Amino acid sequence: MIDNYLSFRLTSCSSCKKAFGKNSHKILVRTPDYEVIFAKCSGCNRTTKLNFALNPSETVCFATLTDLSFEDANNFLNNEAISIDDVIQVHKALKFDNFSRIG
Ligand SMILES: [Zn+2]
Repeated sequence: MIDNYLSFRLTSCSSCKKAFGKNSHKILVRTPDYEVIFAKCSGCNRTTKLNFALNPSETVCFATLTDLSFEDANNFLNNEAISIDDVIQVHKALKFDNFSRIG
């Protein structure tokens, strides 16, 4: 599929305009409905996150520059979501200025 994306006018870095190589793309998420791809520019080292919504009639894409690396994004994706209990625990710790209680 990446070859299709490369012909989808996403061939260059939006920051410095250097062309992306085929090895600069990594797939973060792939489902039948959407895909998320990270592209790292070898010129300026900035990362672009490409989000694709895949529909039978069309493919919609938007790209954003990000400070996240592929590894950071992968870690966030695979970690548990923050729970309400987590938020309450942090609130209580901050309220009493005792940061050692967090965790
Ligand atoms: Zn660049």
